[in-house]
Amino acid sequence: MAEGGHYDIVVLGGGSGGYACALRAAELGKRVALIEKDKVGGTCLHRGCIPTKALLHAAEVADSSRESAKFGIRTSFDGVDMPAVLCYQQSVVDRLWKGLQSTIASRKIDTIPGDGRLVSPTSVRVGDDLYTGDHIVLATGSAPRSLPGLELDGARIISSDEALTLDRVPGSAIILGGGVIGVEFASVWRSFGAQVTVVEMLPQLLPLEDEASARHLQRAFRRRGIGTELGVAFESVRYTSAGVAVGLANGKTLEAEVLLVAVGRGPVSAGLGYEENGVTLTRGFVDVDALCLTKVPTISAVGDLIATPQLAHVGFAEGILVAERLGGLEVRPIDYDGVPRITYSDPEVASVGITSAQAAERGIAVTEVNYPLGGNGKSVILQTQGQAKVIAEAGAAPGGQGAGPGRVLGVHLVGSRVGELIAEGQLIYNWDAEPADVAALIHPHPTQSEIIGEAHLALAGKPLHFHA
Ligand SMILES: Cc1cc2nc3c(=O)[nH]c(=O)nc-3n(C[C@H](O)[C@H](O)[C@H](O)COP(=O)(O)OP(=O)(O)OC[C@H]3O[C@@H](n4cnc5c(N)ncnc54)[C@H](O)[C@@H]3O)c2cc1C
Repeated sequence: MAEGGHYDIVVLGGGSGGYACALRAAELGKRVALIEKDKVGGTCLHRGCIPTKALLHAAEVADSSRESAKFGIRTSFDGVDMPAVLCYQQSVVDRLWKGLQSTIASRKIDTIPGDGRLVSPTSVRVGDDLYTGDHIVLATGSAPRSLPGLELDGARIISSDEALTLDRVPGSAIILGGGVIGVEFASVWRSFGAQVTVVEMLPQLLPLEDEASARHLQRAFRRRGIGTELGVAFESVRYTSAGVAVGLANGKTLEAEVLLVAVGRGPVSAGLGYEENGVTLTRGFVDVDALCLTKVPTISAVGDLIATPQLAHVGFAEGILVAERLGGLEVRPIDYDGVPRITYSDPEVASVGITSAQAAERGIAVTEVNYPLGGNGKSVILQTQGQAKVIAEAGAAPGGQGAGPGRVLGVHLVGSRVGELIAEGQLIYNWDAEPADVAALIHPHPTQSEIIGEAHLALAGKPLHFHA
């Protein structure tokens, strides 16, 4: 076997988690090898966050041109040129990919192309070359999952990978799974003109979001003509001359041109030598402690490969945490409740902190305020509906005697463009702010950010534009 080289850190997988770790470690003076079998940037850049958000932006442009008369502007919507949309999408990805490769190169990280396999607690084999490291970071990510008996054929029964590169708008689509990915594709395809039905086994869309946000989203989807079948399991699928027929546990049969299976993503951990070298797995996810260290002292793991929220910015944060721990810096466990989450559908759903249901499960008494977007000037200008819900530790009733509510525990937003606002929500949550602290901050008028200010003013007992 040829000698690949010795490094301080060998990172296996160049997605969000792996490359963030490599970049930070190199910044801290470590010699780093980054092994990637496909393209640096991983799922997020090539098959996830970026290409979906490009499609969602094109969808917004389609809606704007279709609905422009509402604002007194005459345009005509002549249809979707899907190859041109894909060309725009690819140009975005390519530009970011080029930038990322040059950033990685500028930090003197050795990018090793090839399929890596862990062969000892301190080495990874790529082809005939052996790369050894004082430390190994596993970051092999995740891949689309399906259900037992439901085989993806890549044409009529597809995953998000194929959905992203479909060179036509399907006339109709059934989307199995009402999580983030399913909801985003439902939004895109509806804007592009498809008939869409989302099937979700749990009783609400976006099962991890606050029930009130999910209810608003469902209402908005109904207004947009997106069908939903909630609280119902998938039973069967068969091909028809026009596409697929999907049987549901409630006895209904839905027919469409394509079935998008968006029932979650599983870790890429099989056959890579992990267990043989002492790394333990639970349902395929690598087991780690609160600082992303596996049971093997030389091996850490980050990103979708571990059982933490499957988000690119979680991967970044975990990669940085590991790099700093290995660089001898003091690190603290991540508070995963404090990670902002956004679904970029129309309308958008964004949150940070805990939901009302989680507060109840944890036995925390809370005070809540729901501020409707109808009371917000900028949202009315944009003609969007939704709400801002803020949950705080219970205190005296708003406006009452004694202490007001305690720390803000959750911020939940629904409406066009609210994703950008959750950055303020995360400061409020992560800096342990109380409603009175936020109520004292002046929000610019007229902006959607005022919904955050207004909700906190109401919680602090001094509502402004608010109907009780
Ligand atoms: C459709 C879709 C939309 C999404 N949208 C968002 C979003 O808007 N915001 C958000 O935060 N997250 C989003 N995500 C999730 C996000 O993409 C993931 O959380 C993130 O990519 C995880 O990063 P990772 O580094 O753990 O894994 P990955 O990005 O999957 O990277 C793993 C890398 O390891 C490589 N690899 C695997 N095995 C080997 C091997 N044996 N040898 C060498 N290399 C290997 C792979 O080629 C890959 O490049 C989305 C995901 C999907 C599918």
